[in-house]
Amino acid sequence: MNRRLYDKLIFEHSHTGRHGCDLPRAIWPDALAELPGTLMRTEAPALPEVDEPTVVRHYTNQSTNNFGVDTGFYPLGSCTMKYNPKLNDALASAPAIAGLHPHSPACAAQGALEIYWTLQRSLAEIGGMAEFTLNPFAGAHGELTGLMVIHAWHDSREDYGRTKVLVPDSAHGTNPASAHIAGYEVVEVKSLADGTIDVDDLRSKLGPDVAAVMMTNPNTVGMFEKNIPAIAEAVHAAGALLYYDGANLNPMVGMARPGDMGFDVMHINLHKTFSTPHGGGGPGAGPVGVRAGLEEFLPAPRVMKKADGAFAIEEAGGSHSLGRISSWLGNYTVFIRALAYILTLGADGLAHVGPLATLNANYVMHSLDDLYLLPIPGPCKHEFVFDGLRDKSTGVTTLHIAKRLLDLGFHAPTIYFPLLFHESLMIEPTETESIETLDTFIEAMRRIACEAVENPELVKSAPHDTPAGRADDTEAALHPVVTYAQYLAANAHD
Ligand SMILES: *Cc1c(COP(=O)(O)O)cnc(C)c1O
Repeated sequence: MNRRLYDKLIFEHSHTGRHGCDLPRAIWPDALAELPGTLMRTEAPALPEVDEPTVVRHYTNQSTNNFGVDTGFYPLGSCTMKYNPKLNDALASAPAIAGLHPHSPACAAQGALEIYWTLQRSLAEIGGMAEFTLNPFAGAHGELTGLMVIHAWHDSREDYGRTKVLVPDSAHGTNPASAHIAGYEVVEVKSLADGTIDVDDLRSKLGPDVAAVMMTNPNTVGMFEKNIPAIAEAVHAAGALLYYDGANLNPMVGMARPGDMGFDVMHINLHKTFSTPHGGGGPGAGPVGVRAGLEEFLPAPRVMKKADGAFAIEEAGGSHSLGRISSWLGNYTVFIRALAYILTLGADGLAHVGPLATLNANYVMHSLDDLYLLPIPGPCKHEFVFDGLRDKSTGVTTLHIAKRLLDLGFHAPTIYFPLLFHESLMIEPTETESIETLDTFIEAMRRIACEAVENPELVKSAPHDTPAGRADDTEAALHPVVTYAQYLAANAHD
């Protein structure tokens, strides 16, 4: 750790008896008096005792140790870490929206329900689906919900023998995980050398025991799956449904619709494509859309528009609803950002998102493919994968390159995913970056390729300029240190 003086832990600033401000205790004396004695603390909590400037400086300085899309370019492949307009954040925290109580009756929350309903309709239009639920909290949660819809649909047809879900070997890890949690056996489908799904392998695995096939398009190596109509036909002929993982919708939004391609069920990661900043675990939203005929299976509650134009919350949902999968109606402030984003861009603006994201990715790819190994030749869609440096003789790996990029002021791309290549380095520039930013990133990547030859140790020992150096990922996962007491115990021998 390159700890600076102000990088002391907050507990290390503590002095017994020191405090920052007086809370207005007088405000709730009655409430305190009513609190049963058994619920009252008998001992003061073990908190650091610090003055106000120390607290403010501590957390402000801590915040500068972080890297976010507001501090620099963040080309994390598979994650669509694009810049999200601040206006949408401001709207989401506007008092009229943030102050609405979740228990408000529908008659007092018509505006909120209209926002909800309008977003449902907008996503249905964008996805080419009949109906959407906004309830799921994340992409993975949407996958699980979608698979539960598929399960409920097969059950409603008394088709109980479908125990398998087919997932391409290039899929995001959440696909097999969701299928497993939904009670299915996961069967892997091979990819071809160009990264797209092996349709022959898929066909050979289809049968009366298959409930669904999950696909991502563009897939997780950034290639557009051209064979979807033929795949959809084969899947449907086998009595299964086709699921669309919409995490990569960004390059297609406003241009092509999963519903038109033959997908039956899909989710959209609003925190990737539709303007909610993400990272650190949330908040997010993974709305699920279904084609006509599957609406009644969606989770409850659902928001409907009645014949008289009023909006209502139907607690029980549709006739075959799988029931509640989330608290309330989902992550409301994420919906505000998404709808604000859709309405500001409009249909024409949305149709520019994908082509620009695709152009940026191809530009970066072709500016570097003389130095970095491109296992799947382009053109790519919104992201692409290098298999490390072309020149492997220096011993500089993808991990070293990623760490060296931190020194040069860039967030690292996704590394060692997808698993199809040994040295995967997955770059997604997104449409929100200027040509100047892309050129600076290209320059940094080219410089690292030069350093790998001229001074490989410099690259291998990176990062040199970040507040923290190399973390031991395994140790951090096995023995996380998240409290001061744990920190003291972990450092007791030093
Ligand atoms: C991000 C991602 C997911 C999972 O979405 P979460 O919102 O993180 O749960 C699923 N599939 C793909 C292809 C993804 O990129």
